[in-house]
Amino acid sequence: MSPVIGIDLGTTYSCIAYLENNQAQIIPNLEGNNTTPSIVSFTSTGEQLIGTPALRQAVTNPDKTIYAVKRLMGKKYNSPEIQEIQRRLTYKLAEAPNGDVLIDLEGSYITPQEISSLILRYLRKCAENYFGEKVREAVITVPAHFNDHQRQATKDAAKIAGINVLRVINEPTAASLAYGLSTKKDGHVVVYDMGGGTFDVTILEISEGIFHVLATIGDTFLGGEDFDNRLIEWILEDFKKKEGIDLKEDKFALQRIKEAAEKAKRELSYTLETEVNLPFIASGGQGSKHLQVVLTRSLLESLTKDLVDKTIPCMAQALDESKLSPEDIEEVILVGGQTKMPLIRSTVKNFFGKDPVDSVNPDEAVAMGAAIQSGVILGEVHDIVLLLDVTPISLGIETENDKFVKIIEKNTTIPTKKTMPFTTVEDNQRRVKIHVLQGESSRASENVSLARFDLVGIEQAPAGVPQIDVTFEIDADGLVKVSAKDVATGRQQSIEIRPSAGLSTFELNKIMKRTEEAAEVEKDDEAGLL
Ligand code: AMP
Repeated sequence: MSPVIGIDLGTTYSCIAYLENNQAQIIPNLEGNNTTPSIVSFTSTGEQLIGTPALRQAVTNPDKTIYAVKRLMGKKYNSPEIQEIQRRLTYKLAEAPNGDVLIDLEGSYITPQEISSLILRYLRKCAENYFGEKVREAVITVPAHFNDHQRQATKDAAKIAGINVLRVINEPTAASLAYGLSTKKDGHVVVYDMGGGTFDVTILEISEGIFHVLATIGDTFLGGEDFDNRLIEWILEDFKKKEGIDLKEDKFALQRIKEAAEKAKRELSYTLETEVNLPFIASGGQGSKHLQVVLTRSLLESLTKDLVDKTIPCMAQALDESKLSPEDIEEVILVGGQTKMPLIRSTVKNFFGKDPVDSVNPDEAVAMGAAIQSGVILGEVHDIVLLLDVTPISLGIETENDKFVKIIEKNTTIPTKKTMPFTTVEDNQRRVKIHVLQGESSRASENVSLARFDLVGIEQAPAGVPQIDVTFEIDADGLVKVSAKDVATGRQQSIEIRPSAGLSTFELNKIMKRTEEAAEVEKDDEAGLL
């Protein structure tokens, strides 16, 4: 049987793992590194660079070096988050006809799913290189707080990359599997996960091989990039004050500052002070200007304390929803590169009253957990018998006056199913409109629209007589399915689905055809690999 891999498709870095003799092992990339920058670059010669080579030339090719697409996946162009993020990206975004986000490569457009698929294809190639055989199946992870659109977009990206997704699992749950398999301890565990772009806190109960998620709370728009941005803004302001030059509109300078700020932020996790040194950052009226500034850990902490503080109510809410108090927590696991920041460690420690465990590597635990889950699905792991995850977001429908009625509440164990009876309000009504949404607001318009359904072909009858049972289902991947049945006839109703986001089957097939053609061209390269 060909190997199955676990994939952590991160905002800034991605990682792959596999299971061998009940142990999760990291698969190095083609450069020999355990993690790969989630970056794709299109060069002036028409070449596609992925991972470290793409990162290396980001400074000289900022318009066509695409990073952090995970923050764009399944999002609407006009959403406040995308408008905010666009201000800081060095590449351009555009609006797709259905309102989704597109990446503008100087007039040609590409979806975030396609960029992610290029990264996934590269990771698949690394695994194939490692095993010396084809790899076609994987378990892939997503932030616990990803909604249906974001999960579907991730699955689409894998499909384009020629990967059959055995299961989509939540990143913190994956991390807890890595922890659980290595320690074999029972009890309540907290996973505090902050990567490049998202934040989740999850509470699990581990008992005799059953991993039961009790609650998961988070923010898909809070992560390491926000910390970088605070430093970038401070550096830009400081340079303007000293030199009278605003570097905001200079894409090349901005890209250099972005890289230097992220590096400085990392260093400040281990030292109290570091220097950013960027010679020839600008040329003013009086000749070339150099950017040289000393950054301290306390400056970084003062610039970002509010971001760290934003996670405290999430921890409190997760405890509350699990009906636990800090004393009930046995272990706290930190996941995601940003949790290496000492201020995060101390904030989490103060909240739970215990030091986070060091046995789990924050950069690798998620991919390892995904590999373990693949072993659970294939029946190769015996210490873990069951994974009971939850849906992080409520699912419901719109009723009159913009009201949102929840049908499946957040933190319900998945897979789950709920049926609701619908009827007509007018005599001889042939059609009922249903609008499915995900979110927590009591107003429908403030939640994420998943799909609109028209139940059609209802038999003519007085108002209120027909009964149509609509079944809302969330599968083990956290994906939503809706079906309808006419109770009188027992017939499955025909439903018209108009997804309000994502790639349609037609678009997906078109992209896959395009990528397959590209892959044909690449075959010679692959022949060397396989
Ligand atoms: P991940 O998506 O889990 O790989 O997390 C990546 C994020 O972690 C990026 O924003 C990195 O800048 C950040 N990160 C990685 N290492 C460190 C570190 N030593 N200190 C602070 N942040 C870090």
